[in-house]
Amino acid sequence: MGPVRQQRGASVGLEQVQRALRAAREAAPDEACGLLLRTPTGIAVEPRGVGTRTGFHIPARELAAEAARGELLGVWHSHPVGPPDLSPEDLNGLWEGALALVVGLQWPSAALYRLEAGTPRLLSLWTRAVLADS
Ligand SMILES: [Zn+2]
Repeated sequence: MGPVRQQRGASVGLEQVQRALRAAREAAPDEACGLLLRTPTGIAVEPRGVGTRTGFHIPARELAAEAARGELLGVWHSHPVGPPDLSPEDLNGLWEGALALVVGLQWPSAALYRLEAGTPRLLSLWTRAVLADS
């Protein structure tokens, strides 16, 4: 693979957000969740784990099985009734350098963060205007 091909699909983009948004709508009013996984065919965002109305959990067994499929970049989950802000509990589940994609169903909107020196840095924001037709 040349550098151009490697670049394609190398980051979390609208396609991944739309897939997470669909899963989030199906799971509502519970949260949906999964891992952000770099695989040979792109960034995977399949729903995994267990969501409730106030949180989510990805069992270690599922996490290990997923991590065997590709490079673990981070996690994604939904907020069925709120904005895509990271809660203190969300932050506790992250590790240094991890990506966190949060899909908020209220408008809808989505945000991608990376944990840097213990602080979430906003990398991308998808607004209602972008996601309206998703
Ligand atoms: Zn959350």
